[in-house]
Amino acid sequence: MQSVDDIQLLSPSPSQPCEESGNSSEELYTPKVKNEVIPKMSQEFKSLEYVFMYYNNYAFKAGFTPPKMIITDQDPAMTRKTDKHLPNTFHKYCIRHIVSKFSEKIGALAYKEHYEQLKKCTWNSESPKEFDATWAYIVGKSNLSTHQWLQSMYEIHARWVLAYTRHIFSVHMTSSQRAEISHAFFKMYLSDNNSMYEFVTRFERALARLRHNELDSNHKDINEKPVLKTSWLMEKKMSELYTLHSFKKFQEEIFQIGGYVLTILHEDERRRVWKVHREEMEGSRGRVVSVDKSSNRVSCSCQMFEFDGIPCRHLLAYLSLIQIKGTP
Ligand SMILES: [Zn+2]
Repeated sequence: MQSVDDIQLLSPSPSQPCEESGNSSEELYTPKVKNEVIPKMSQEFKSLEYVFMYYNNYAFKAGFTPPKMIITDQDPAMTRKTDKHLPNTFHKYCIRHIVSKFSEKIGALAYKEHYEQLKKCTWNSESPKEFDATWAYIVGKSNLSTHQWLQSMYEIHARWVLAYTRHIFSVHMTSSQRAEISHAFFKMYLSDNNSMYEFVTRFERALARLRHNELDSNHKDINEKPVLKTSWLMEKKMSELYTLHSFKKFQEEIFQIGGYVLTILHEDERRRVWKVHREEMEGSRGRVVSVDKSSNRVSCSCQMFEFDGIPCRHLLAYLSLIQIKGTP
């Protein structure tokens, strides 16, 4: 029989790690669920599988759906626990963390000669095909194709290379400081020694804290109105839809569109394809904006909208060109 030893799900004591991340005077979010659904202290179960089903039922009713994605720096404990217990959560590795290891792993000379290309390849490839081809070309010409560490990183490329992970909406948590903060945040709650119960309950505490922070941000979003910088109706509408943080990013994209020009690359019965590039930048590779004629669906090769939920400057430049100044 399995027993729940640690069931203080949402009311951690002052000595528990949750308290380290916030103001002790703040109130935690407490789910409203029936008592029989809540796991009890010393409750016994037939099997671990049944425990997990019980927890999932509780989590579902309490409003804690598993996250679509978690970003870590290849932490082995996190990898094992999330892969096993959160099978529908995409476990992504921090690209910045991996790229930062190149200097110690591939040798000083190879680093000096090939680092910039490798970094550009992992960050800027727009498609898996482009990444695979560019990576193979770089490691081939630099005699690094048999390098053990590079090979091991290539084997897990689907977890960290942007061309493979960009399609998952992640509010721009890629590799940046926010990802590291997120990882550090969850690490406060998790360790390799956690039992499944501890993992689940600690993870839930982490989510409760995030939920609380989210409510705090919502309060600011409702009470603080951003300053509009253009006469676009779209900007006004987005200021009502986005959070303050997202709206500032959207404004930055709008600000940039004046520097971009569009030229038609290809057109057939099904779609029209535009190249969007910076006017003053010689050799700018630009981005490709594709318009589906039957649905009017517009997409950009940078995939910022899919990844970040914010239309990129390339899409906005296109919309500006065709004078759609309302909300897309
Ligand atoms: Zn774009």
